[in-house]
Amino acid sequence: MLDKTPITVARGDGIGPEIMDATLRILQAAGAQIDVETIDVGEAVYLSGNSAGITAAAWDSLRSTKVFLKAPITTPQGGGYKSLNVTIRKTLGLYANVRPCVAYAPFVPTHFPKMDVVIVRENEEDLYAGIEHRQTDEVFQCLKLITRPGCEKIMRYAFEYARAHGRRKVTCMTKDNIMKMTDGLFHKVFDEISAHYPDIKVEHYIIDIGTARLATRPELFDVIVTPNLYGDIISDVAAELTGSIGLGGSANIGEHVAMFEAIHGSAPDIAGRDLANPSGLLLAAVMMLVHIRQADVASKVHNAWLRAIEDGVHTADLAGEHTLQRVGTVGFGAAVVARLGQKPQHFNSVAYENADVAPKNRAPLYVRPPPAKKEVVGVDIFVHAPDVSPDYLAGLLSALSTPACKLQMITNRGVKVWPGGFPETFCTDHWRCRFMGQPVGAETRHVVSNHDIVELMQALAAKNVDVIKTENLCTFDGERGFALGQGQ
Ligand code: NAD
Repeated sequence: MLDKTPITVARGDGIGPEIMDATLRILQAAGAQIDVETIDVGEAVYLSGNSAGITAAAWDSLRSTKVFLKAPITTPQGGGYKSLNVTIRKTLGLYANVRPCVAYAPFVPTHFPKMDVVIVRENEEDLYAGIEHRQTDEVFQCLKLITRPGCEKIMRYAFEYARAHGRRKVTCMTKDNIMKMTDGLFHKVFDEISAHYPDIKVEHYIIDIGTARLATRPELFDVIVTPNLYGDIISDVAAELTGSIGLGGSANIGEHVAMFEAIHGSAPDIAGRDLANPSGLLLAAVMMLVHIRQADVASKVHNAWLRAIEDGVHTADLAGEHTLQRVGTVGFGAAVVARLGQKPQHFNSVAYENADVAPKNRAPLYVRPPPAKKEVVGVDIFVHAPDVSPDYLAGLLSALSTPACKLQMITNRGVKVWPGGFPETFCTDHWRCRFMGQPVGAETRHVVSNHDIVELMQALAAKNVDVIKTENLCTFDGERGFALGQGQ
């Protein structure tokens, strides 16, 4: 007999308690060795004045069990309530969001009966860092942060997942034809890490054509790894293509903690009426059982669930021509329990193994290399200036250039407008003014010091130039660490 694994459970809002009860009843009947610690998160916690929706005691439980089975919660409208999911993901470092999207045709109607795709979405970075600023009257900014540790962690996870689950191909999707540095890093690290997994096929798609292919020929794909925003979008596209978003479960994996949940929300429209389908949460719980190394129980539950679906035992959301018995949440749970130990006849049965993709049993996900030699070779100064022409601004700033830093280029929304801009280019009140370090003596270039930048800023301040921010232009081991202007 296995030792019981403590898990933290949140019963959630709306249909949450009903689907959690059904799920836990099935796990218990299947012999899952779990010790449940229940916490309160969600609507009641928000409305008690806690804008994060989670209490200190709940954090303690999560940090002690490190495994979280979470029912959907209701985020109250307005009032500055923070998304609990984003808070939990970031606070606990849940860097990988894993969402299997599988068709269950003909029992769940879909145009893509052979679809079986797993989306591995980077879960902490990208535009979701939440670093946003209004910089001028006209311009708002959101910073897109992609890091090498973040890329290495998600790539290793995706390839380890593929291996552990007998998957043959990993597809990376980015937009690195446009975002050459950020998405370029994601793609580069994909290439680097994939070299350690010669048994797994790899390919890369630009996200736009990749999404189009996924939506029209999902059977082409196996595991997809992609940055946060694209992953957010394509994982809903993929789940919808399977025929029902109500069947999807997902895992949020971190180096210390993992969270498992259905992909749907709290469905207040059907709450308390024994109508909800518990399948999404149950399939998330199956992923949890694999994660806590109870693979045999996971297989037993999953096979019984497949058997119930193909036996035509369906909740209202799945009701169709293959429905033989229409049941509620409780009845569906009982149907799965009644089939524990049985194998599906139509679908392939599953047989999970205790192959561990949890980081604790692997090589470190990221080893920090020695720092590169970093040199500042210039500075971009962002300026707020309404109703000026590029030539006027260039004249003003050129005159303010210092011996160490000289105006080289001005762009507006990234497009070069000086020198040699086009009158057709629309300009906002937000200008990026690039000053480059100047050669001194026999040197071919000048490394810019903080002192040089301060001197330049003082010259601008003396003429009341409205500086928004500066961004240093660096080289790393001699390699340019900044993009050129469009048209430069
Ligand atoms: P929803 O997913 O709750 O519901 C969308 C539709 O799908 C509804 O018609 C609902 O009845 C149906 N549906 C959802 N799950 C079902 C199930 N298991 N069985 C049968 N039918 C099901 O999305 P929504 O209505 O946009 O959101 C409701 C609330 O859920 C909101 O407060 C939202 O913030 C929250 N939400 C929470 C999570 C989460 O906790 N992870 C995720 C998404 C939405």
